[in-house]
Amino acid sequence: MANGPDLAELERRALESALAERGHARFHAGQIFRWVYRRGVTDFGGMTDLSRELRADLAAHFRVSTPALVHRERSVDGTEKFLLRLGDGRTIESVFIPDTPSNTFCISTQVGCAMACAFCLTGKMGLVRNLTAGEIVGQVRVLADALQMREAPFNIVLMGMGEPLHNYDETMKALRILTDEQGFAMPARRITLSTVGLLPALERLAKEPVMPNLAISLHAPTDAQRGELVPINRKYGVADIVAAAKRFPLKKRSRITFEYVMLAGVNDSPEDARRLAKLLAGVKSKVNLIPLNAAAGIPFERPSDAVVDAFARVLAEHGVTVSVRKSRGRDIRAACGQLIVEGQKKSAAQQLALAAFGRG
Ligand code: SAH
Repeated sequence: MANGPDLAELERRALESALAERGHARFHAGQIFRWVYRRGVTDFGGMTDLSRELRADLAAHFRVSTPALVHRERSVDGTEKFLLRLGDGRTIESVFIPDTPSNTFCISTQVGCAMACAFCLTGKMGLVRNLTAGEIVGQVRVLADALQMREAPFNIVLMGMGEPLHNYDETMKALRILTDEQGFAMPARRITLSTVGLLPALERLAKEPVMPNLAISLHAPTDAQRGELVPINRKYGVADIVAAAKRFPLKKRSRITFEYVMLAGVNDSPEDARRLAKLLAGVKSKVNLIPLNAAAGIPFERPSDAVVDAFARVLAEHGVTVSVRKSRGRDIRAACGQLIVEGQKKSAAQQLALAAFGRG
């Protein structure tokens, strides 16, 4: 395959320009998008509605990179975990969650994560690197093929490895490619971005033309509690996040989801529930309780179902819409916070770069 520009990294407008530079008509970009995203054809020779000359020129000057599917594992509950290898040999995981009630692809935005939330295994890895837009969308392409779902509707949640707003530009570019009407044509309302609440990025997101659903990982109603669980809270506290959520532009009837990992004896008391309800009063929101997926190396325990139910009841009594996330794929370590890929030591250069940014 040629070494030229990687079409997987190009929005349609950029592809149009790249084509024009080689003397081709811009409208071929739409045709190529339909082949790559709707039909899963990345071999230019197979793009049969393009002229032979154009196909040959594309093959000589462009490529379409695709993450390699290395391993696939299926849970007793139907959840499937996919291990994908990227161009530089790094690996990431993506998860398919059937019938929730829709089919959902859980996609990663970084290799590892810099946020270091106390209960999350991915956080223990640290950040290895950001994914490119093509690698983010590439997960959707690989899963759609592997599951034979090119034609089927599905939801996307950016809840795999990484903090999407910490990789802002590539994540937004990926959303523009995914929603492109000539490509997957994903409706933005079928995409949910989950964030720990990086405030400046959240303010930027509020002005984006492609607006996914928003989920904020809150996990505690006070700064004292949240600061222990989510280190970035020391920079962007609970009150600021809730204020930003209040300002966030929402379509009619849509709400912001607040995720709340439940940790036994830490944030699961009825008093915590009352505080949470008070905090969210007046915010168009719903709360999604996530009983901890416990793992070796995570110093917390999952509360009993009775404790989770009692917490949910207090919220409901205070007028908060609440749901409890069913844990899926725990037997294959595909559940929330369990995505980790071993053996990805950071290179010396990466360690230096990270140290320069004060994490690492
Ligand atoms: N970085 C983003 C998205 C990734 S995680 C974020 O923080 O929102 C998606 C959700 O899984 C987050 O709410 C995260 O806090 C939660 N999670 C992480 N570890 C978990 C664990 N061990 N058990 C249950 N949920 C967990």
